[in-house]
Formats: sequence, structure tokens, C-alpha cells
Amino acid sequence: MRSDFDETRRQLLAGSVALATASYARHGLAATSSGSPTPVDEGTVAGGRVSFPAIDASTEQPGAPPPNPDVPGQRVGFAVVGLGRLALQNILPAFAQSKHARLTGLVSGDSEKMRVIAAQYGVPKEACYSYEEMARLRNNASIQVVYVVLPNALHRDAVIQAARAGKHVLCEKPMATGPEEAREMIAACREAARKLMIAYRCQYEVNNVELAKRARSGELGDIQFIDAINSQNQGDPTQWRQIKKLAGGGSLPDVGLYCLNTARALLGEEPSEVIASIHSPEHDPRFREVESTVSFILRFPSGILANCASSYSAHEQRNFRVLGSKAAAEITNAFAYEGQKLHMSRRDAQAEAKVELNLGVKNQFSLEMDHMALCVRNNVEPRTPGEEGLQDQILMSAIYQSAQTGQPISLKPELRRDAFRGPPPDDRHA
Ligand code: NAD
Repeated sequence: MRSDFDETRRQLLAGSVALATASYARHGLAATSSGSPTPVDEGTVAGGRVSFPAIDASTEQPGAPPPNPDVPGQRVGFAVVGLGRLALQNILPAFAQSKHARLTGLVSGDSEKMRVIAAQYGVPKEACYSYEEMARLRNNASIQVVYVVLPNALHRDAVIQAARAGKHVLCEKPMATGPEEAREMIAACREAARKLMIAYRCQYEVNNVELAKRARSGELGDIQFIDAINSQNQGDPTQWRQIKKLAGGGSLPDVGLYCLNTARALLGEEPSEVIASIHSPEHDPRFREVESTVSFILRFPSGILANCASSYSAHEQRNFRVLGSKAAAEITNAFAYEGQKLHMSRRDAQAEAKVELNLGVKNQFSLEMDHMALCVRNNVEPRTPGEEGLQDQILMSAIYQSAQTGQPISLKPELRRDAFRGPPPDDRHA
């Protein structure tokens, strides 16, 4: 027997179904009353990929689609060379979010550390090599890419050895300690018909990519000026970053490079002139061999000026600003591993509006490795090939020369757009 309570509940439920159905209809969505899942709930499977239709109104930001990673055995295998901080804190963990790359080998000078790391990441003993054994990589078909994560002066030899062992190479920035080494690395990879990509992660990071797209689309009007700072306060003076022979320089090749490369990548132009000045605190043991603060201006053929600065003795700041005639944009933490915030400022009727864009969080190391993996699989030139790294080496030499002579340095005119880059990553795989 139905109680009054049951009847009231039934009427309420019927009322809310009617309301929900009307609301679905307003948003162009079909409602179901059968209780069994529909494709809206279950998603659809096509071409080996699972997808879900949007269920939020078109006024809402859509959720991220499922990543649809490759079957593990079909991902491109990477061996990481050098098990220091970047490798252990950022690169190895990033394989977990990668869709097309997997860790299949390790190279290290420390067998005990390598044994521990191999166990943590499931790398078999036979795929662990010392630096001296790199030629043996040739015999390991599960390794297609070698990712070099050593101190800067050791990149050259490791890249050349990897290419000669028949492997494609992803190399950490800065590519080398000077243009000559960079040219040798490019030549060795070309000779071995292997791809060489430089790990400019900011060219794959979603906020930096979005800002470059908007700037290039004209959304900011005519770009006038870029302001880029990348600073950190170094500690231990004995670390390799403070030793010229291993690092090649101080803050410029390590962190100033991000200002240089991001400005170039955003504009697609190449500087026609640089002017620079350097200051290092006197009697500071950290700066016996390498510089601390570098301030440099890049002049681009269009007239745009980029004001860049790096420091090894100032508190961490990693910000990038672009000023256009119609709008300005800023990425805070632009060059950091995470925590980027993209703001756009423009007039909105009688007000000045500052909007923060939420692009979601994506691991930039995973994006970068996935790009390399797809370039290898599809035989495509990486967005940031060796030539992109060489160009930065040439520009950094000019920056040092300007600081030394106190004169502006003119550069060979380069009027091709994105002269040293491959095609941008294909969004369909992002
Ligand atoms: P790190 O000092 O933490 O690690 C360096 C590794 O190289 C260690 O495992 C060390 O044992 C090994 N090594 C081999 N020979 C060495 C030698 N002669 N002297 C010193 N170490 C030697 O350095 P890291 O921070 O991992 O940097 C490695 C590379 O990655 C550098 O080229 C650096 O510029 C680059 N890096 C890039 C990013 C980025 O965001 N893309 C961030 C940090 C470092």
C-alpha cells in the first residue's frame, strides 16, 4: 500500500525528471529514462580510441579528453643518459604521463644508483649501460631514442656516440658549450641519418604555446616589446654549473637561454642585433669562473625589442611579458617546471580587463618526449631540432661578445620565419 509519503516522493521525482528533460532539450541533449547507459554515459570506441561527448553546456570549459596512450609495447623506447636531478626528479617520473614514449634503458657512471633506479622503473639489467658501453646501445632494439641529460660540456660526446650507435637523440639544453660543438653534433646525427631534438620544453608547454599562437594571430595587435626574466640564487660553488669547462658559462646558457629561446619562438623572427652587459658580485666564490647576472636586448628585424635578463644571484623569478599595441600578456612562472599562469590585459568598454586563462595542467616533459616519439615514428623533423640549438649558441656567443666589448653586435640577416624549426606538434596527438 502506498503511503502519502511515497506518493509525494513519486510526484517530486516525476517533476524533477520533467525539469531535467526540459533542461536537456534546451541544451540540445537527449535524455534517457530507461536507466541503462547510453553512448553519452559510456562513450564511444573508434579507431582504437575512446571518447566521450561533452555533457556540460557550451558555456562551460570542456573537460580534457581521455589521453588514449599507445599500447605500452608499441611506444617509442627511450634510454636516459645521466641520472642527476633533472633525470630523477622530472624526466623519469614524466614517462608515467607520456602517451607515446616509454623508458627502456639507462646510462650512468654510477652502477649502484643505476641498479636502484632500474628497479624503481622496471628497466631490465641488460638495458643498463655505463658511459663507456654506449656503443652497445646499437644491439638493443627496444631503445630508439637516447635522451642526454648530462652537464653541458658532455652533451657533444654523448650525442655523437648515441647517433653512431644508430639511435635518435633528444639532448638537454643548452645544446653545447659553443657553436662549434653544436655543429659537430648536427653533422654526426645527419651522417647517421638520425633525428636530433633539443629539449626546449617551453616550446611544448601549453601556456607558452597558447601565448605564441595568440601573439602570432594578431590578438595583441602589433607586438612592440618583450620582457623576460629568469633568475635563481645559486648555492654550492663546487657544483658543475659554476665550473666553466663543464657549464660553458653561467646564468646565460642555463637560465637566460629560456628568455632568448622563448622570445625567438614566440615571434618566429631572428634577432638582427644584440647588446649586453654582465655583472657578477665581486669575491663571490660562485662566480670565479662563470657570470651571474646578464642583461641583454635583442633587436628583431620588425623593430620589436626583447629585454632579457638572467641571474645566478637573485631570488627566483621566471616571468615573460609581451606588449602589443592592442593588448598585453604575461606568463608568470613561464620557465618553471609547473605553476604557469597566463594573463591577458586589454580594454573592455570603459574598463581595463585582466583575464587569467586556465588551460589545464599538462606535464611539459611528457609533452616534449611525446613530440620526439611521434617525430621518430612518423619520420617528421622535430619542432626544436639541432639547428634551433645551434642558433641559440651563436646568439649567446654574440651576447658574450657584446658584454665584453661594450658594443652592439650585428648578426647575419635571417628573414625566413621559424628558420630553424620543424613543424609544430600536431594538436591531434596532444
Ligand atoms: P645534475 O648535476 O643534477 O646531474 C648531472 C648528472 O651528470 C649526474 O648524474 C652526474 O653524476 C653526471 N655526471 C657525469 N659526468 C659528470 C661530471 N664530469 N661532472 C658532473 N656530473 C657528471 O644536473 P642536472 O640538473 O640534472 O642537469 C643535467 C642537464 O640537464 C644540463 O644540461 C642542464 O642544463 C639540463 N637541465 C635542463 C632543465 C630543463 O628544465 N630542461 C633543468 C635542469 C637541468
